[in-house]
Amino acid sequence: MVIGQQRNLLALAQNFAHFFAHESCGFCTPCRVGSKLLSQYLDKLAAGHATCIDMELALQVCNTASLYSHCGLGKSIGNPLLSLQQYFPQLMAQCLQPDSYTPQFDLDAALFEARRITQRDDAAAHLANDYRHAHS
Ligand code: SF4
Repeated sequence: MVIGQQRNLLALAQNFAHFFAHESCGFCTPCRVGSKLLSQYLDKLAAGHATCIDMELALQVCNTASLYSHCGLGKSIGNPLLSLQQYFPQLMAQCLQPDSYTPQFDLDAALFEARRITQRDDAAAHLANDYRHAHS
């Protein structure tokens, strides 16, 4: 592949991760589960919610898939992320949040529809800030 300088490398790696998750035949766990985990991780990274802990876990998934997958596809699923980490560490560092952990999605926002249906919007119908910080 020839990749222009203007290309968003993170989006490219995200695209590869989705491709591998879709193409995994599911025969072996490191590839079947690992490709899905990496896909979710790159989604989180692209959304600006990933932290260094997420990155460590993702790199473990890359190593496990590389060592224990049955065929070449599974052994390759970590390559896009590993290449980004190896050749563009400053880009990766810019994408990571300084917090120890941030959730992949906003649970309080996800409860919007439930609040609308129940016609509740009082404080008890929202996740408290101290709950969010206790789990971050
Ligand atoms: S590594 Fe190969 S055999 Fe294993 S799940 Fe992936 S595609 Fe299937």
